[in-house]
Amino acid sequence: MNLTAKIIDGKAMALDIRQKLAEKITSCCDKPYLAVILVGDDPASLVYDRNKQKAALSMGMKCDIYHLEKHTSEDELIKLIHKLNLDDHVNGILVQMPLPNHINPLHVIETIAHEKDVDGFGPYNAGLLHENDTRAMVAATPKGILYILEKELGNLTGKHAVIIGRSNIVGRPLASLLLNHNCTVTITHSKTVNLPKITRQADILIVACGCPKMVKKEWVKKGAVVIDVGINRVDGKLCGDVDFDDVKKQASLITPVPGGIGPMTIAMLLENTYTAYLNQKNKIKK
Ligand code: NDP
Repeated sequence: MNLTAKIIDGKAMALDIRQKLAEKITSCCDKPYLAVILVGDDPASLVYDRNKQKAALSMGMKCDIYHLEKHTSEDELIKLIHKLNLDDHVNGILVQMPLPNHINPLHVIETIAHEKDVDGFGPYNAGLLHENDTRAMVAATPKGILYILEKELGNLTGKHAVIIGRSNIVGRPLASLLLNHNCTVTITHSKTVNLPKITRQADILIVACGCPKMVKKEWVKKGAVVIDVGINRVDGKLCGDVDFDDVKKQASLITPVPGGIGPMTIAMLLENTYTAYLNQKNKIKK
C-alpha cells in the first residue's frame, strides 16, 4: 500500500509564531531593531532581504537594509559593523551571505557583537550551542527545523536523524541542536560513500545540499520524516533537494518547497531579534 505523507505547512506555522511575537512587540516601549547588511546586487539575496524586512516591519519591528555596492572593501564593511555594534538602538545585525569573493566571511561574522548576532553564526554563539548552553543564539534555519520536529513528533529522544550537508549555517548547527535533544545524529556530505544506504536508516532525514530533487523514494525509510531545506530554481520554478512527489509516497511527514522551511527561517530570525532586544534591555536595567 502506498503511504502519502502529511505535508507540513511551514507558512501557517510561521504565521502563528509571527502573530504571537507581534502581540509581544506591541507591549514593548520601543521597537526591536534589525539591521540587515547586503553587499552587491545578487538578485536572490535582495529578495531574501526584502522579505525579511517586510516581515519585520509587519510585526512592528524596525528594520533597515544597509545596501553596499559590490566593490565595498572588507575594511569598510567591518567599520559599518563596528558602528552598528556600538549603536544602542540596534538589537540585531545580519550580514547576507554569500559575500563577494574579496571579502572573508569569517572576518565579517566574528566582528558582529555576540549579543546582536541574530543569525547565530559567530564563534561565540556557535560555541555555546556546541556546549549545549541554552544562552546560545541558535541559527534560524536549524531552530525552525527543531520547532517543526518537536511540534509534530514531541520528544525526539532516541530518533536517528541523518543530515545531508555540513555547512556552518545549516548542517553543523542542526547536528548540535539535535544532539542536544538526544537524537542519534549522522552528518553526511559530498564525500560520503553510499549515501542512500545511510539515509535509509533515518527516522528523520534533513536535506540541505543544494542539489535539486536529489533525494528519491528509494533513499527513504517507510514512514520517515523528511525535512527539505534546499531552495533551487530549475526552469524558473522553485524546488527543494528532495523529489517531493516521489518521496511523499514513502515518508510520513514532509516539508514542501516553497512553503516549508523558508518561512520558518524568517520567523525564527525575528524571534532571535526579539530575544536579543530583551537581553539588551535587561542588561541596561541591571
Ligand atoms: P552549502 O553549499 O554551504 O553546503 C552544502 C552542503 O551539502 C555541503 O556540506 C556539501 O558537502 C553537501 N553536498 C553538496 N552536494 C552533495 C551531494 N551530492 N551529496 C551529499 N552532500 C552534498 O549550502 P547551505 O548549507 O548554505 O544550503 C544548502 C541548501 O539549503 C541550499 O539549497 C540553500 O539555498 C538552502 N538554504 C535554505 C534556507 C531556508 O531558509 N530554507 C536557509 C539556508 C540554506 P561538502 O561539505 O563536502 O562540500
